Formats: sequence, structure tokens, C-alpha cells
Amino acid sequence: MTSDDKKRSSLKEDLTCAICCDLFTDPVMLACMHHFCRACISTYWRGLRGPASCPQCRREFPNRQFQTNYLVAGMVEKVKASSSNTYQKNLQKQLKDSLESYRLKREDYLNMIRQDKEKVDIIKRVGAELWGRVQSEFQALRQFLQEEEASVLDQLRREQEAMLEEMGQHLERLQGAVKEAEERMRVLQQAADSTEHTVLVELPEVNFRPSVQVEKEAEIDINAFSSRYMAPLQYITWRRMFKHLKPGPAPLTFDVDTAHPSLCLSRDKTTVVECEEMLPYRRNVKRFVQCINVLGAQGFQSGRHYWEVGVGNKTKWDLGVALEAVNRQARVKLSPENGYWTLRLRNGNEYSAGTQPWTPLPLVSPPQCIGVFLDCEERRVSFYNADSMLLLYSFSDGPQGQAFPFFSTCVSERGQKPQPIRLLHFPLGPI
Ligand SMILES: [Zn+2]
Ligand SMILES: [Zn+2]
Repeated sequence: MTSDDKKRSSLKEDLTCAICCDLFTDPVMLACMHHFCRACISTYWRGLRGPASCPQCRREFPNRQFQTNYLVAGMVEKVKASSSNTYQKNLQKQLKDSLESYRLKREDYLNMIRQDKEKVDIIKRVGAELWGRVQSEFQALRQFLQEEEASVLDQLRREQEAMLEEMGQHLERLQGAVKEAEERMRVLQQAADSTEHTVLVELPEVNFRPSVQVEKEAEIDINAFSSRYMAPLQYITWRRMFKHLKPGPAPLTFDVDTAHPSLCLSRDKTTVVECEEMLPYRRNVKRFVQCINVLGAQGFQSGRHYWEVGVGNKTKWDLGVALEAVNRQARVKLSPENGYWTLRLRNGNEYSAGTQPWTPLPLVSPPQCIGVFLDCEERRVSFYNADSMLLLYSFSDGPQGQAFPFFSTCVSERGQKPQPIRLLHFPLGPI
């Protein structure tokens, strides 16, 4: 028996007529506050010979009066209804539904816990992989520095040894010369001493040529020696290291053959700008804005590549990577689905990533120079503010197969002088 059942059963007892032992029918209350069915108490009193009394407490009343009790009548109705079959069925259904809904909720929570645990595992696994990757990148730099240091120190040691060797030989020659000079001095002294006693028949040679030739000073340039190592060694090493970066900034050029006819390329193919004489015509076909494009001369399908693009204060552009296979004259949205992974600028400050739909990028400071990173193995295309190397956006569903750097100058607004897009090269000659 549930606690609800217990309550209901004691309420049922309270609402049971002591005469007919059934739930009250049309209940009335006597002055003693006991209740009976109107019919039961009337019949009971009709059978009484003496004064009216309560069959329960035996209290006698001066007259046969009772009061209708609507409150009790209502409660009786409720108890009757709650004991009915339909009510029970409804209640059971409600309980069952509620139970089922909690069971489903619990199932959902358990699923979410499972998913969270899987995510925790993924975070740990990816974190460990990234940890290894970061370590190996820095290890490569450290190894380069260690090798450079060893090489510079080795050269320093060899130069020092060569100079010491030369000084040793110079000293040796000087010792020989001293010895020879002393020998001559001895001979000459002897001759001088003997002239006092005898007439010298034969004079020893006075102006003899010494057999040991010694230059006055060893030809050692200490200044040149120290200058080589008193150099801005960190910068020299950094420049050498820069050339060994993998990937370092690639010196891209534009591909003339893929340039839209209304684009002008510089002689060194590192600058592209809209040809001024084509502007009035192009402004009428503004909807073909993305067709005003050019590819990089170098395509990539393996390895990791990074290049930097100067956009200066241009107010609109699209740039990134395009699959070799795309039709660049077709009017399509620049999105990975169509073979483009791009970043774009419109109206001077509306940056977005070329997803479908666009992903707006709220940038605090407008980048003047964009770094593009293409990792063919990981199929990743990332964009950086090349001045701060702040990551702007990264596509993780990058190209499969040959892809080319992609640039669109867009059509400049009327009255605005077309601004170029430049491929940045680092002036690092051979060291
Ligand atoms: Zn009764
Ligand atoms: Zn009574």
C-alpha cells in the first residue's frame, strides 16, 4: 500500500456512514458534528421512539434537525472519482509516462557523459600529439643552433691553432737566430781577445749572412681574428637559421598565364593591380568580382608551405588557396565545397572566412600583411596576421591534390585608386 493509498483509505473511513457502512450519500451533519447519509439518519430516527439521538455518540437532541454539509458531499464525490477505474488508469498512465520520461532523460545524460568522456580522451590524445609536434619543432631549431655553435667554435679553434702554430714557428726561428748570434759573438769575442797578443793573420768574417732568416714580426692579424667573432653573431646566426626554417616564407610569384586580362603584373611578378584603363568596363560587370583573379606560379600537393601577402590598405580582396581543377571564370561562392579556401575583406573592415555561409571575423586591428599556411598532409589552410602572427582563421578540411595560391584584387570602388596586392619576399641573400 503506497502512502497515497493509505491516505485515501483513512479518508474513505472518515467519509463512511456508520449506519450503512458505505460512502456518504447526500451527507448531513448532526449537532454533535457526526455525519450520516440523509436517508440513513432519517430512517434511523423514524424507527426511534424517544428523542432524536446520534447513533454514534448517543447524544440526544431536542428536535430532529440536521444540516446539509456540501463540503463533505464534495469530498465524497472526489473519493468516489479517485477510486474509479478511469481515474486509476489515468493516474497509472501519468506515472508511467513520467517514469518513461525520466528513464529517457537518464539515458540522455548517460549518453552525454559517454560523449564527454570520449571528448576528454580526444583532448588528451590530441594534446599529447601536439606536445610532441611542438617539441620536435623546437628541437629542430635547437639542433640547428647547436650545430651552428659547434661549427663557429670549431672554426674559432682552428684559426686560433693556426695562429699559435705560426707563432710557435716564429719563436723557434727567433731562438735559432739568437743561438746563431751568440755563436758569432763568441767567435768574434775570441778574435778580439787574441788581437791583443798576436797579429791576426786571418780575421773571422765580420759581416756574415745569418743562416736563420727571421721576419721582424709574425704576420698575425689579431684584429681581423677578433673582428670575425666580435660580430653581431646572434643576427648572423638568425639569418642563417631563417633560411633553414621549415617551412620558411616561400618567395612566391604570380602566374602570368592565369591572370585575368584586366590585371597588370609587375615585371618581377610579385605585384598585381587592376589595370586603370579597364576599370570603367569592369565596374559594369561587378558581379564577376571573384573572376578578377590570378594564381601563384607555384602549385603544392605535398609538404608544408607558408607565404606572406601584402594587402596594405586595400578595402577589398580575396586570397587563399584554390584547387588546380577549379574553373576560376565560373561564378561560384568561394568555399571549400567549390575548391577554394579563402579569407576575404569587403568595405574596408568586414573580414570573413570563405565558408558556406561566410564566417565573420571580428578583427581588432586590420592586418596589412596576411600569412597563408598550407599543410598538404594535414589538409589544413590557416591565415595569420603576419605582423603579429595572430591566427585569424584555420580550415581543417583543406585541399586534396594539387592546389595553388589564389588572389583576387576585386573591383575597386568608383573614384578609388586601385591598390595592389604584393607577394612579400625576404631580402635574405646567401650567407
Ligand atoms: Zn448511510
Ligand atoms: Zn454524534
